[in-house]
Amino acid sequence: MLNADQSQIFSTLQETFGFSTFRENQLEIIQAVLHNKDVFAVMPTGGGKSLCYQLPALLLAGTCIVISPLISLMKDQVDNAKSLGIQAGFINSSQNIEDQTRVMDAFFTGELDLLYLAPERLALNHFAKKLQRGKISFVAVDEAHCISEWGHDFRPDYLQLAHLHDLLPGTAVAAFTATATKQVAHDIVARLHLNAPLTIRASFNRPNLSYTVRMRENTGRQILQEIRTQNNQPGIVYRLSRNDVEKTAKMLQKNGIAALPYHAGLDPTERAVNQDAFNKDKTQVIVATVAFGMGIDKSNVRFVIHGDLPKNIEGYYQETGRSGRDGEPAHCLLLYNRGDMMRLGYFLDQLENKQERKIGWQKLKQMADYAELPICRRKQLLSYFAEELPGDNCGGCDICLQGVEAIDATTQAQMIMSAIHRTGQRFGSGHIIDIVLGAKTKRLLQFGHDKLPTHGVGKGHKKIFWRRLVDAMLSDELLTTDGSQFPVLQLTPAGEKVLYGHKSYTMHMVKEVAQHASRQDATGHNMHPELFERLREQRHTLAEEQNVPPYVIFSDRSLHDMCKLLPTTPDTLLAVNGVGKVKLEQYGKEFLEIITSWLAENPDVKIPENTAAAVSLEPENKQFSETIQKSVALAQEGYSLETIAVKRGLKPSTIASHLVEWLEDDNTLDIRKLISPEKCTLIKEQFILHKTELLKPVIESLEGQAGYDEAKIVRAAMQQGIF
Ligand code: ADP
Ligand code: ZN
Repeated sequence: MLNADQSQIFSTLQETFGFSTFRENQLEIIQAVLHNKDVFAVMPTGGGKSLCYQLPALLLAGTCIVISPLISLMKDQVDNAKSLGIQAGFINSSQNIEDQTRVMDAFFTGELDLLYLAPERLALNHFAKKLQRGKISFVAVDEAHCISEWGHDFRPDYLQLAHLHDLLPGTAVAAFTATATKQVAHDIVARLHLNAPLTIRASFNRPNLSYTVRMRENTGRQILQEIRTQNNQPGIVYRLSRNDVEKTAKMLQKNGIAALPYHAGLDPTERAVNQDAFNKDKTQVIVATVAFGMGIDKSNVRFVIHGDLPKNIEGYYQETGRSGRDGEPAHCLLLYNRGDMMRLGYFLDQLENKQERKIGWQKLKQMADYAELPICRRKQLLSYFAEELPGDNCGGCDICLQGVEAIDATTQAQMIMSAIHRTGQRFGSGHIIDIVLGAKTKRLLQFGHDKLPTHGVGKGHKKIFWRRLVDAMLSDELLTTDGSQFPVLQLTPAGEKVLYGHKSYTMHMVKEVAQHASRQDATGHNMHPELFERLREQRHTLAEEQNVPPYVIFSDRSLHDMCKLLPTTPDTLLAVNGVGKVKLEQYGKEFLEIITSWLAENPDVKIPENTAAAVSLEPENKQFSETIQKSVALAQEGYSLETIAVKRGLKPSTIASHLVEWLEDDNTLDIRKLISPEKCTLIKEQFILHKTELLKPVIESLEGQAGYDEAKIVRAAMQQGIF
């Protein structure tokens, strides 16, 4: 190490970046860079790559050159660094000559810690010569996979980087990427001529992301429903076609959600404006095709919804990976319909190259397996990257949270297969399900299928059940399809065994609970939402003034920490994650004022004493006010809601909100003493039936048999998985 020791590394981490600990691999990489060693690091998006070069850049003499592929991102990256008090600048074709000269002068006089460059700069001979005149500490190559044709973002300009070591002899090169395949890794090391690099392959697990797959029934309604549970937090909706992007964005706007479209068919200005609006929290949702990608550096994306099946797991991982980069919880929902696979497969079949077609199908099949198999979603994602997830339960996907149930579906499978068999194996799943359900569609009558003995035998189950069953039978290979664009269902030999009663059939299904069972709330990150809103507003105002994205001021994580820690002095504010000296000086006062005045309005709120414990990411046990504790104690003794209300001289709705708060903090309570077991079951059934966590539809269909207070309590108990 040149002029820094271990304690300097840690004090810089705390003072400049405001973090008290390193994430996995960061320290090792930083130490290698400080020892002038080449580095090759594969870290997932959000893993904290920038700190790995920004921190040593501060400690080493000279300027760190950062090669970054997107001109549009450079300004944000530089703003971000500057907001931490790092001396940073960029040079690219968007600047005029004066600006470029100013930045270069700062570089020559050694004022800059970081200088961001686009790779094509290095191709300019005179520019490369100029660089040699300054003092360079090391070179960081961001998005290094752009150098490989095997990656998903090949950029010929990156090939220029092969000359780096000749251009700047003796200068270490640190390459970073989030793309992990072997071929890409090999290309990066070889083409950059990395010299015995420290090689890091970080885990691709993103513990703060939760994954859910839901069968697609009504895309628009399901997307809207999911967004409504997100409390105005930002998120991305991916759709396959431009047309669907437009339609979905319009639908959301109509429903009062601030949403904008993004796809390659829009004119570049509109695209840039929409992306910027999303980046700066001026629109809550961006609805996009996969064209919306690398340019996203936004750290506070709280959800990603895929309205259609992605083509492969790698794409899905990258797209979902754009959420939760700040380490806060984020939710990834995939709406799945088996028909998507056929649709995408049809396009694959049009490919000329046989090998490409084969690989395409293989990858598509893996993606469909992700959605269909009753195996932990996270395990499946990680196994794609050849990584094994230890343990049986990831605690953050629908499979692990809700569990899988095995249902003997022999009879129902026979009904489906009988309908297929009797209609000559010539119809698709929609028609077959119509027969079993006893529908009288025009097409069905036209073929006389209402006369079949199987017509209407399956009325006892809903359509969604039959669709699930057919999907499961396809996945378990009792059925197969003929692979055309409008596939017809056919029996396999295994299917025939079940049809003729030689074998039974067990279907595996994710257990149903109200949506989002226990995710997010289990993290304890939603303390004092009203204060959070105020802090967010302040952040927004500052961001507007400075024309930077809000998370450049403070991350969501920092704001949540403020809500938890409730700091009222500069010292305690420093304990908040992401608050270092510079940010304290720049923004501390405004944020402290907001917290102080909020506390004055809420005298009951206790300020946590142990600040060190409060900064930890772990959910903690919340302090409950005396009044909540009293209501809970009476409920635990077995009194009904009404009795507790009378005893305490409060409204039943107040008691209900006390109990809900208690339950939401992961505490148990036997609610069947409060509300009769029959009523509990009745309410629960409605939540499940409507597949919602909204109260209104549930109350309406209960037709006066239960009220809002009861429904709220049951919902909270369901969300905690205790009922
Ligand atoms: P990447 O480039 O790998 O996608 P970033 O460098 O953008 O990731 O970092 C993602 C987020 O993680 C940023 O908000 C950053 O401030 C935060 N971060 C990085 N290192 C740490 C750390 N040691 N402790 C807490 N947060 C961190
Ligand atoms: Zn899981």
